[in-house]
Amino acid sequence: MKRWWSVGTLGLMSCQASMDSSSSVDLFEEERLRQHVQILASDEFEGRAPSSVGEQKTIDYMVEEFRALGLEPGNGDSFVQPVPLVSITAQASELTVAGGETELSLESGSQMMVWTKRVVEEVFLDRTEMVFVGYGIVAPEYGWNDYEGVDVQGKTVVMLVNDPGYATQDAGLFRGNAMTYYGRWTYKFEEAARQGAAGAFLVHETGAAGYPWEVVSGSWSGPQFDLVSEDRNLSRAAVEGWLTEEAARQLFDLAEMDFSALVDEAAEVGFRARSLDVQASVQIRNQLRESVSHNILAKIPGTRFPEETIVYMAHWDHLGRDTSREGDQIYNGAVDNATGTGALVEIARAFQSQSLPPWRSVLFLAVTAEESGLLGSRHYTEFPTVPMERTVAALNMDALNVHGPSRDVQVIGFGSSALEDYLSRAAARQGRVLTGDREPEKGYFFRSDHFHFAKRGVPVLYAESGPDHREHGEEYGRACAEEYRAERYHKPSDEYDASWDLRGCLEDLALLFDVGYELSRGQKFPEWYRNSEFYRAGAVLAEARSEAPTTE
Ligand SMILES: [Zn+2]
Repeated sequence: MKRWWSVGTLGLMSCQASMDSSSSVDLFEEERLRQHVQILASDEFEGRAPSSVGEQKTIDYMVEEFRALGLEPGNGDSFVQPVPLVSITAQASELTVAGGETELSLESGSQMMVWTKRVVEEVFLDRTEMVFVGYGIVAPEYGWNDYEGVDVQGKTVVMLVNDPGYATQDAGLFRGNAMTYYGRWTYKFEEAARQGAAGAFLVHETGAAGYPWEVVSGSWSGPQFDLVSEDRNLSRAAVEGWLTEEAARQLFDLAEMDFSALVDEAAEVGFRARSLDVQASVQIRNQLRESVSHNILAKIPGTRFPEETIVYMAHWDHLGRDTSREGDQIYNGAVDNATGTGALVEIARAFQSQSLPPWRSVLFLAVTAEESGLLGSRHYTEFPTVPMERTVAALNMDALNVHGPSRDVQVIGFGSSALEDYLSRAAARQGRVLTGDREPEKGYFFRSDHFHFAKRGVPVLYAESGPDHREHGEEYGRACAEEYRAERYHKPSDEYDASWDLRGCLEDLALLFDVGYELSRGQKFPEWYRNSEFYRAGAVLAEARSEAPTTE
């Protein structure tokens, strides 16, 4: 363990340790972070695909770094947690919809996409009754239930994407323009399964989904990864899918229903689901391939409340190598997410350099298969090494800032939990301010690994430099972000670049360190704000804690 402060300095520090200094940014050395990113994103690591040669190299590298810092294994006596994966390649027939004398035939790719999450070789829908369930939401905290008074057992539901707040832009409905979890397509399929539906289709609309149809058809073709769960996902609806808006219109025409009118109605309080009186049929054949990947875990045990744990997380995986490409075949994933993965090591180093050790444990969790649908983080929260009710907070890092210092700190999912108070204090010490997500309607909060902790009630923080560049202003910051999105994001050109300006990144790491260190030296469990859709899940964890309090 290397300590950077001389004994003389230590003597002057109060019990607040780094909290008193203007910022902890001096704890971080740019050169060290650069080195991690350069190595993890090198061609030798082949783009860090799950279950590849790159995976083993990543594990070896991270474990050696954690060991050198004196960290302990985070999963019993192991630094890894196996994550069983299955890849499913689906071949679907047309989707036929029968109504009276006529029949509608929808083609895979251009008019609809279908798949099954069930890990089986074949599924089908055979003339299942179709029911329009509006937004497909059951949200007691917003007084909303699209399934009230309707039985969809064994039927096929058709639903709209996003939520009534977005549709009406009414700030009093759900969270207005900001997408709630109820607006996310993942939620809608889960709810449809809970309701016993055999089939579940979402109607695509570019604005409400946050992306065009090409993203839907592109991301749902080819092999799809999933976790191998105990029930082989048999609790899911047999068939899930998307319809283009045009296909939905044809379907409603066939049912002699006014699509536009029903869409409006679905956003109104008191909407009632209704049968379309048409029947859907489709058949899907799957090709299954199983493999094992790994989460990497290392911890610093707390000195007083070792069971209580603060989690720092980042996905180590990226898209690997595409041998069908001409030229550069390796998706190095330097920004996404060698930066976050390397940062785990540097935050661990900052903790180990403190003269006052954390009372609570700190877990450094590098998860796999984020790019395949947040699978490593989901697996961890299903099989956590620390119970969820003892997990104080989860702080996620995904694609850190390489464009220089910024005045603003963008909190994705702003207005969620009391963790923002901790962050706001730390930001003030750097002369920075918190701002909300710039595009809350796109639901970025639900699109990275912290989300699975949120779903289980653990407060999360997903914050990063905003665009307001300290020296060149906001326009420059926006241009940098745009350049990354257009030229590098999920492309082989996401490579390490010696010209990166990591000053802002180090400031962000200092913020996250400050938040976690303060939590680690306290006894509070920060709570979700009451208007958050995760408040209830958080209350369940609080209840479990009050029944079995932690002892020193
Ligand atoms: Zn990422």
